[in-house]
Amino acid sequence: MLQGTQIILYSLDPDPHEERIAYLKKLGGQVRSRAALDFKTKPEADIILIEANFPYFNIFKFLKGLEQRQSTAAVLLMGPDLKASRISALLRAGVFDYLKMPFSPNRLKKALREALNNRSNLLKVLGLSHELEVANKKLAKERDQLKQWSNDLSQIYDLNQKLSESLHIDEVVTSLMTQIKRFVPYDIACLYLKGWGQVRVEANEDKWGHLIKRVSHEMQQEGERFDKSKRVHARTIVRDGDSEIVVPLEVGDNKIGVLRLIRKGSGSIKNKKKINGGAKKKLFCDYQLKILSMISAPLAIAIRNAAMYKQVEDLAVKDALTNALNRRAFSGILEREFRRAERYNSALTLMVIDLDHFKMVNDTYGHLAGDQVLREMAVIFQKSLRDIDVLIRYGGEEFVIILPGTNLQKGMVVANRIKDRVENAIFNEAERGLHMTVSIGIANYPVLPIIASPKALFSQADQALYAAKRQGRNQIMTAVEIMEKKTNAVLALEGHTTS
Ligand code: GH3
Ligand code: MG
Ligand code: MG
Repeated sequence: MLQGTQIILYSLDPDPHEERIAYLKKLGGQVRSRAALDFKTKPEADIILIEANFPYFNIFKFLKGLEQRQSTAAVLLMGPDLKASRISALLRAGVFDYLKMPFSPNRLKKALREALNNRSNLLKVLGLSHELEVANKKLAKERDQLKQWSNDLSQIYDLNQKLSESLHIDEVVTSLMTQIKRFVPYDIACLYLKGWGQVRVEANEDKWGHLIKRVSHEMQQEGERFDKSKRVHARTIVRDGDSEIVVPLEVGDNKIGVLRLIRKGSGSIKNKKKINGGAKKKLFCDYQLKILSMISAPLAIAIRNAAMYKQVEDLAVKDALTNALNRRAFSGILEREFRRAERYNSALTLMVIDLDHFKMVNDTYGHLAGDQVLREMAVIFQKSLRDIDVLIRYGGEEFVIILPGTNLQKGMVVANRIKDRVENAIFNEAERGLHMTVSIGIANYPVLPIIASPKALFSQADQALYAAKRQGRNQIMTAVEIMEKKTNAVLALEGHTTS
C-alpha cells in the first residue's frame, strides 16, 4: 500500500516507534525518523508523521513552514488525548488526521490510506491549477496581442485615410514617414519614387549624415534595378539579419517605388558581425512584415495618384516640347516675383530671348528639326540658370527668363553666358549640325521709374529685344540703353547736345 511512499517520522524520542516503523516498512514505505522538526527546509516526504511530544508552539511553527514552502506532504499527528479545541486548531493548521495514542495498526493503516487519497486529490488539483495558470498566461498574452493588433489597425486606418486625402507627393511622404513610425518603429526610412526618379529619406538622428547618404544612394540603385526588372508582384521581405524590411510598391503590373525601413545597430548597416549581438530586440519581425504588406497597396496607389496629379498640374503649366513653364504660368509667376521685389526692395531681372532666323530652320530642314533645336535650346537655357530662376516658353521660339534677386549687372552675366553657349553649340548634331544665335532683351527692377508694374517690366524687355533684332541680332540690349537712346534722340531734336 505504501510502495514508493516517502515517510518521515518526527518524535523527540523516535526509539519507542521501532515497531511502528517496521510496520510502515512492511507496508512498502520508505521511512526515516527525526528527533527534531525542520523549520528551514522543506522535508522531502509524502507522509509526515509527528508525535505530539514537541512543544505545541513548535508544531504550529513547523506546520506554518510546510505551508509557506508549499509542501504537498500529508501530515498525521499522534499523541495523547487532546482537547477538541486544540485538535481542531491543529487540523486548521494543516494536520490531516489526529491519531490518539495508543492506536491499532489498522487505525494507522486507515489513516494513511485516507491521507494518501487526499494527497493524490490535492496533487490533481494543483496540477489543474498549474494548467489553468499556463492557460491564463497564454490568454493574457493573446489578449495583449489582440490589443496591439487593434491599436495598430486603427493606426493603419488613420494612415490609409491620410494617404487617400493626399494629392501632393510631399504630403504622401510626410504622412507615411510620421504615421508608420507608430506601428513599425524604424531608425531610417527611405522611399524610392519611380515617377520622380528620386529617394526621400527620414532618419531619427541628423548626425547620421554619412550613413543617410550611403543608404539613399543604395536605395536609388536598388529602386532603379527594381524598376528595370521584369518580375512583377514582388513580396515584402525582411533581410540583413532582420535589420531591414523592403516593401516593393506596385499597382497592378506597374512599378511605383520601393520602401526600405532600417533598424540601426545590427545587420548590414553597421557591422555584419553584430547580427546576433546585443541589438536583437531592435530587429524587425514577421508581425511588422505582415503590417507593411497590408499598407503596401494603399501606399502604392497614393503615390501613383500623386504622380498622376502632378502630370495634370504639369500639363496645365508646362510646355510639352521643352518642359519649360508655359505662358499660362508666366503672368502669375512674374506678378508674384515683382510684388516680392517691391515689398522687400530687392532686385529682379527679366530677359526675353528670341531665336534668330528660326523660320529658316523650319523652312530648310522641316518642323521636326526645328522642334529639336527648340528642345536643345531650352536645355542650354536651363543649364545656365540657378534653381530659383524661372524659364518660360512664352510662345513659338520666344522664351522669358525671370531672375529673382538679380540686378542688371548680374543679369548681363547670365545673358552673355546664354548668348555665348548658344553661339558655340551645335544643334541637332546627329542629323543636321546647325549653328544658332539668339537675341536678348533685358529689363530690371528697380531702376527706371517707368517700370512700376510687371507688365511694364516685360514690355521694356520686349522693346529691348526688338532693338537687338533691329541692330543685327545675336546681341543683348537693355531697357536702360533704349531709354538713354530715346532721351538722347529727344534732346537732339530739341537742339541739346549730350556730353
Ligand atoms: P527673327 O530672327 O526675326 O526672330 O526671325 P525668325 O525666323 O526667328 O522669326 P519669325 O517670327 O519669322 O519665325 C518664327 C518661326 O518659329 C515661325 C514658326 O513657324 C516657328 N515656330 C513657332 N513655334 C514652333 C514650334 O513649336 N516648332 C517649330 N518647329 N517651329 C515653330
Ligand atoms: Mg525669331
Ligand atoms: Mg519670334
